[in-house]
Amino acid sequence: MTAPDESVVHGSKAKAVPKDLPALDRLLRDCAPLLAEHGHTLVAREARALLDGLRQRAIAGTLAQAELSALPQTLAARVQARLQPRLRAVLNLTGTVIHTNLGRALLADAALQQVMALMASPNNLEFDLDAGARGDRDELIEALLCELTGAEAATVVNNNAAAVLLGIAALAGGREAIVSRGELVEIGGHFRMPDVMSAAGATLVEVGTTNRTHPRDYEQAITPRTGLIVKVHTSNYQVQGFTAAVDEATLAPIAHAAGLPLMSDLGSGALVDLSRWGLPAEPLPQAMLAAGCDVVTFSGDKLLGGPQAGLIVGSKAAVGRIRKFPMKRALRLSKLPLAALEATLRLYLRPERLVQDLPTLCLLTRPQEQIAQLAQRLLPDVSAAVAPRFSVETVALQSQIGSGSLPVERLPSAGLAITAVDGRGRTLEALAAALRGLPRPVIGRIHEDRLLLDLRCLDEPALLSSQLPSLREALA
Ligand SMILES: *Cc1c(COP(=O)(O)O)cnc(C)c1O
Repeated sequence: MTAPDESVVHGSKAKAVPKDLPALDRLLRDCAPLLAEHGHTLVAREARALLDGLRQRAIAGTLAQAELSALPQTLAARVQARLQPRLRAVLNLTGTVIHTNLGRALLADAALQQVMALMASPNNLEFDLDAGARGDRDELIEALLCELTGAEAATVVNNNAAAVLLGIAALAGGREAIVSRGELVEIGGHFRMPDVMSAAGATLVEVGTTNRTHPRDYEQAITPRTGLIVKVHTSNYQVQGFTAAVDEATLAPIAHAAGLPLMSDLGSGALVDLSRWGLPAEPLPQAMLAAGCDVVTFSGDKLLGGPQAGLIVGSKAAVGRIRKFPMKRALRLSKLPLAALEATLRLYLRPERLVQDLPTLCLLTRPQEQIAQLAQRLLPDVSAAVAPRFSVETVALQSQIGSGSLPVERLPSAGLAITAVDGRGRTLEALAAALRGLPRPVIGRIHEDRLLLDLRCLDEPALLSSQLPSLREALA
């Protein structure tokens, strides 16, 4: 078979056979610094996997001798790769600001600092520093949430889906819950209102029709078996045309006359009126409470701009029942998001500064002109990186708020549109893949044979431009 001197003669093209591979022990002996740094377990596991892979290829006759010359380096790269987290920072150039698949709201500095400061240290999560006795984690933010929303009581859980599930289970478990047919929403994944009802142990009673529901529909559906009336904000779609819905202010007296609580799932729920920054208005929890709702639930990581959390605000009686319900313990918020949530909520004490303090709000209010200037600035370098197979131009775009907020509203934006010169869709897919393969993956969107990069959420342009040489290499 292949003698060592032949591989020299044939240079890098010569094929290796299995017996050319070093034994595991030999390879490990050549990797002493790697072993010293990372220990035997990881290095040996990766070495074995590396040699197995090479052996398969040697048997198949596809392994070049040259590949065996730098095995310690190959192994070191493999070990490094194994230590890289798979959850990574990416550049969201999709045009959807609060993107559920890309981690939703960005945390404010204040929230990040609070997490960093607290998580490696013991803290008073459930310890009352005044009394020197056991405390309640909800109390850390209850007063703040009540101040911001006008609620009597508040509690928090893992996310808004959990808040809805818990609210229905605690207030309507074993009984009937009335919902308008126009509000039987699917939020995404497997979160559909009818399924949530049954998971919560409540019997769904649908009233009205898809497009129209009237006060009498609710009144006629109330029986001694009814436990709750639920309003759901149709956050990811709109019913237009011949429509009628019963608002909370009309529904609250109907519920209360029958001795029933009214719960409203707001979805996003902004804590401040977004129209003061020229953004479309989104229903406020404080307005829902003022309209007579007993419980309002909303997300922490949508328009609020905080960590994943489900916020529950309302009357002492209703929130008290929710807090005492056993499922609450299973859905409670952990100290990590709680720290971030408290810091985020405190930013709302200074609403005048919110645009500076909350990254998500900053991105949502970014002027189109500023984004267009950025597109203009990046155009020459991006063009050079993708030439000659692709051509690039600046374009006006429409960003979306995302996460089911204000589904039909668009924010005027700008960015780059990349077209394949040969006009084939597959080429564009390859470019999108190359962008996703960068050290800081770049996520755009393909629309009508163009790859669009909406620059609204690119707050550090260097994160894109510094990667363009790697993109050019990947496309070469
Ligand atoms: C987003 C949303 C939910 C789910 O909230 P999460 O925080 O994602 O769990 C529930 N209801 C409505 C109306 C929503 O928009």
